[in-house]
Amino acid sequence: MPQTDPRRGLLIILSSPSGAGKSTLARRLMEWDPTLSFSVSATTRAPRNGEEDGVHYHFLSETEFKTKVIEGEMLEHAHVFGNFYGSPVGPVREAINDGCDVLFDIDWQGAQQIKTSALRDHVLSIFVLPPSIAELRRRLTSRGQDAEEVIQKRMQKSWDEISHWDGYDYVLINDDLEATFERLKTIVSAERLRQPQQPGLVNFVRGLQSEFDEAER
Ligand code: ADP
Ligand code: 5GP
Repeated sequence: MPQTDPRRGLLIILSSPSGAGKSTLARRLMEWDPTLSFSVSATTRAPRNGEEDGVHYHFLSETEFKTKVIEGEMLEHAHVFGNFYGSPVGPVREAINDGCDVLFDIDWQGAQQIKTSALRDHVLSIFVLPPSIAELRRRLTSRGQDAEEVIQKRMQKSWDEISHWDGYDYVLINDDLEATFERLKTIVSAERLRQPQQPGLVNFVRGLQSEFDEAER
């Protein structure tokens, strides 16, 4: 595509009730486009089996987390299922200044904070719904990573998260994973072509105008 200035990076936010499939979709999106930068959140919850510090989350103590909030190092933060979660602002700024899109797997509270932050003009928000509540429970259980008590807590909170669905730019019902992923790629591809995402267009059209003036007038 003819373009002289780098494209501005998008902040792509994926939210859903726990278990609806947003981490799976986020992982697929990262494999599809390795230039995407994943925002590794900080959390005070304990690591699950297979989760690595600095890769899936930055695992912090409550004191460490609160210090980072006070020092303005979090773009947003929230209390979810009894633990603190937050998105470190430094890597996000760096990525979007380099023209890279950043992918967030965060809850509705975080999405709302980013949408009212200084970076709000660059936000693309997508909410993922489960096809049914029974399927949501089935997925949470089949993931096999949480104790029954934790699953119960997440199910109790799922309606709270779902009730914020209409504050998002796009909503996907994650029934068939492949079909949902196709729709997600379509959304991201189209949003990247929006006029404000292509600052180089101004110069490109100026070039067309000069050529037009010389050749056609
Ligand atoms: P979330 O990040 O929203 O909590 P996950 O991505 O961890 O959810 O998905 C929860 C479980 O459901 C995982 O075991 C995942 O493999 C499975 N899953 C995700 N999407 C689908 C789908 N469309 N159909 C069936 N299972 C799915
Ligand atoms: P989990 O414990 O399953 O990894 O995440 C629990 C919930 O916290 C999910 O809804 C997830 O999207 C959300 N979450 C993860 N990281 C962040 C974050 O940095 N900020 C906010 N606000 N929510 C987060």
